[in-house]
Amino acid sequence: IRESNPLKRLNDEIFVYVAKKQKEIEELKKLEQFRREFLADVSHELKTPIFAAQGFIHTLIDGAIDDEKVRDRFLKKAAKSLDGLDALVKDLVTLSQMETGAIKMNLDRVNLRVLTEDILDRLEKIAQDRNVTLKIKPDKLTEVWVKADAMRIEQVMINLIENAIKYNNDGGKVIIHFDEDKKSYAVSVRDNGPGIPPEHLTRIFERFYRVEKSRSKERGGTGLGLAIVKHILNGHGSTIAVKSQVEKGTTFTFKLEKTDEF
Ligand code: ADP
Repeated sequence: IRESNPLKRLNDEIFVYVAKKQKEIEELKKLEQFRREFLADVSHELKTPIFAAQGFIHTLIDGAIDDEKVRDRFLKKAAKSLDGLDALVKDLVTLSQMETGAIKMNLDRVNLRVLTEDILDRLEKIAQDRNVTLKIKPDKLTEVWVKADAMRIEQVMINLIENAIKYNNDGGKVIIHFDEDKKSYAVSVRDNGPGIPPEHLTRIFERFYRVEKSRSKERGGTGLGLAIVKHILNGHGSTIAVKSQVEKGTTFTFKLEKTDEF
């Protein structure tokens, strides 16, 4: 029948072709929309610390420089804004490299336990400032050999532990827990802080999404930490899960493939 009706066949082919092109156009439109939104977000995020630093410096130039106390305070504030700008640009570069696939994971054997102990030593100071205690559990699991890109997984651990410290209550606790199954290790970072309300929980991995904007900025966040975590773990063929209860705390969990010690 098909042979006998070439016009119908041509019509069907055109229909399929048009539908395919329409789909492509929709995808391009979405990409364009994403690009525009990203650019708007980035411009906004960059402007905030630049305007702040500019404000402090201009006020100093306009006369506040004569008062030693005011001068010190304004200089410190300007420096803090510029540090924030520096962190933001670094995170943006990492994220854009990940999104364009320019970063390849350099898989190696990593003892996640040792790597985590190093990180805790480095974060001890900011934890003490907030009166937060850091712990790794269980004591007996000292050999946590996983297949991972050491530098990138270090960044994942730092971002999660830093968040668990900075969004915690004064005097709070952070526990990093390792769990073993046949093929992988599960890592969880648990805090007993204020938690994240359910309506925000699915969105915290989006770039620049913050539950409390002012709190996040005041604590030096770029809003990109969890987006970076998600990308790095995806690059390892893994995913990140989060569970949270308001006023009880938050737990982030991911798995990495086991590897032999030698
Ligand atoms: P930021 O740089 O703002 O910390 P992140 O991407 O790391 O950005 O986190 C996104 C948001 O998720 C934070 O602004 C904060 O509101 C929330 N958040 C992340 N981790 C925790 C946590 N452990 N407890 C409570 N809220 C958290």
